[in-house]
Formats: sequence, C-alpha cells, structure tokens
Amino acid sequence: MALTGAGISTLSNIPDFRGKNGLYTAGLPMEKVFDIDEFEGDPAYFYTNAGSMVYTVHEKEPSIVHTCLAELERWGTLKAVITQNIDMLHQKAGSQRVIEVHGSPRMHYCLRCAGVRVSYAEAAALVKDGDMPRCPKCGRTLKPAITFYGESLPLEARREAEGEAQDADVMLILGSCLTVMPAAAIPRTTLQRGGRLVIVNDMRTPLDDDAAMRFWDLEEVFKGLGKLLDSLPGPL
Ligand SMILES: [Zn+2]
Repeated sequence: MALTGAGISTLSNIPDFRGKNGLYTAGLPMEKVFDIDEFEGDPAYFYTNAGSMVYTVHEKEPSIVHTCLAELERWGTLKAVITQNIDMLHQKAGSQRVIEVHGSPRMHYCLRCAGVRVSYAEAAALVKDGDMPRCPKCGRTLKPAITFYGESLPLEARREAEGEAQDADVMLILGSCLTVMPAAAIPRTTLQRGGRLVIVNDMRTPLDDDAAMRFWDLEEVFKGLGKLLDSLPGPL
C-alpha cells in the first residue's frame, strides 16, 4: 500500500495549499476558501480564489513518484494508493486503484438536486472563462466533490482505506506529515495489524519512531527506485 500527500504533488509543481506558494502566501486562509458554509453562502469566493489552482491540475504532469507507484501496481507489488491529494495525478500516471480520502474535483454536484453530475473538464472550461458550473435543474452553483472543512470525509473511501490498511504488509507513506485525518489514523491500523511502515517525507511525522525505514528526500529515493525498476526484467 501507499499513502500519499501534498509532498508528492509539489514535485509536479502543484503548490501545497498549506505550504509555501500555497493560498496562505496569497493572504487567503485555506480554512475559509474550502469551508462548506462559506461555499453555500458565496460559492464565487471558492471559484475565484481556488480556481486557478484546482482547475489547472490537468496541465501538470505526474512526478517520478506517481509513475513508479503506477509501475509497481502493474507488477502486482502495490495493491492500491490512498491519497490525500485532489489533483488526480495518480490516475494520470496510470494507477488503477486510487482511494481519494479527501475527494476530488473529478465530479461536481448540486447541493440541492440529486443526480446532477458535471465533470472536471466541463467545470475547468467554465472556470477558465471566469464562470462557474451551474445546476441544469435549479441554476445553483455546483460544488466539486472535494471534501471541504465542515463536511464529513467520503465514507466509502474511508472504509476502503481502512480495509486496505488492515491487510497491508507494508505501507509506504510518501509526502505526508500525517497530521490531518484520516491520514493520521490509517497507518496506525497497519501497525496494529503487524504491518510495517516506510516513511519518506521532508518533515517529521508523529510515526517516525515506529517506521521500519525512514527517508527524507522523496525525489532522491524515487529516482533510485525508478532506475532499479528499469533495470529489472520483470516483477519483483
Ligand atoms: Zn440543483
């Protein structure tokens, strides 16, 4: 299993919303931009302030981490990726089983009308023109299926992630500080079930002392892994 966070997206030049170059630098509190009550009151605030970040992810390319994980899955070595990221780069790299625990902008829905679905591509085209996706039934602005503050985490994804964490022999923790839920809890399940953790992150995490292996430089580790995979004739 792999659990990925913002640290791997920054390798694809996607700013960490919380880190430098994120919304904080622009003087915008992420808690307000991604707040469900704020969105219900004034959805334009989200699209105006987060639009240029969220709706440009299709222009980005997967990093060496994304491509190595997709390769390991093809080999049958990696079972799935649990991600906190909302940029859909694992899918773009070719990963088949991606569990998005904070949702994603892949789909947009109406907070009032059931059954309304608008894709990322449709929404991105509108946002690019300074517009917003709207409900064809009631005209209300649609919300991306990203988990906002004040919303509960996607139940299905949470359940799947928990199940995979229980069964994992090894969980790779890549570019996550393990501070927000459910990332803070998932690896503990693996540990409790006798699995091992390998952590690669440039900042400390609460589980550093419990890790079987601990590395700091994602790019360095995965460039090495990439070379190793290229040199092998087939699955490990
Ligand atoms: Zn509607």
